[in-house]
Amino acid sequence: MKIFTTPHEIKAYRASLNGSVGFVPTMGALHRGHMSLVAAAKETCDHVIASIFVNPLQFGAHEDLSRYPRPFEQDMALLQEAGVDALFAPTPDTLYPQGFATHIHITNGMDTVLCGAHRAGHFAGVCTVVALLFSLTHPTHAFFGEKDFQQLTILRQLNRDLHLVEHIIGIPTMREADGLALSSRNRYLTPEQRAIAPALYATLCHLRDHLSVDNSKELLAWGKNELLARGFTSVDYMEMRDSTHLTPATSPHNARLFAAAALGTTRLIDNIAL
Ligand code: AMP
Repeated sequence: MKIFTTPHEIKAYRASLNGSVGFVPTMGALHRGHMSLVAAAKETCDHVIASIFVNPLQFGAHEDLSRYPRPFEQDMALLQEAGVDALFAPTPDTLYPQGFATHIHITNGMDTVLCGAHRAGHFAGVCTVVALLFSLTHPTHAFFGEKDFQQLTILRQLNRDLHLVEHIIGIPTMREADGLALSSRNRYLTPEQRAIAPALYATLCHLRDHLSVDNSKELLAWGKNELLARGFTSVDYMEMRDSTHLTPATSPHNARLFAAAALGTTRLIDNIAL
């Protein structure tokens, strides 16, 4: 596996490739969820590029940027074993040199609901880094997880507008045996919190199985209380929204359930189709 750390190197490498190029952007601390994106890219494309970059632009002032896990050697071994052709792992200074002044955000409000309402500027940080990474790696296919469904939807919008990549491919959420969605942040959980964490998915599944046009308001309120009763510290949101536009939904048709809740200082998110 080739490893590149500067924009110049990755651009030169990309220019040398013929055929389809799959791109899997990550922040590292890789788990089976990330690796399912890599596996899909390997299956679909002639060449696969992955990136590891903990993007400062998408972290708020009081978020976990400095303590975000960075097990780089382990990550490299996993990508190598999975047959990734090239890894792009820049430092923040290389990707955002002094004088960097471009920020990209979408304007239809998709980025100010759900997680966007609780993490100001987060999705602008995501859009900026993804547009930058796309312009360096120029993929034909880019792979993102449905675990971050709002992010996937916003990036589809960005890509529709800017025509950056031919195919954006969404990959279903990989879960632990007890239903907890795999996440790099799960390693922050204490054993007690880890035992409570599966209640997030379990509650979403219960809601999915009981929701109808008539009872959604009551059931979503019940769901929030259920998470608190099971031991979550707080619930940022528990909402039903349209799968395509992320607008509020009153019926399960073409809708998804979205939730974010905290266990101590660790914030977990999840979502499921209805
Ligand atoms: P991250 O490193 O958290 O930025 O995630 C990199 C990519 O992996 C994003 O497209 C995520 O949506 C995706 N991803 C993270 N967790 C999972 C999971 N449990 N299942 C599938 N994809 C995931």
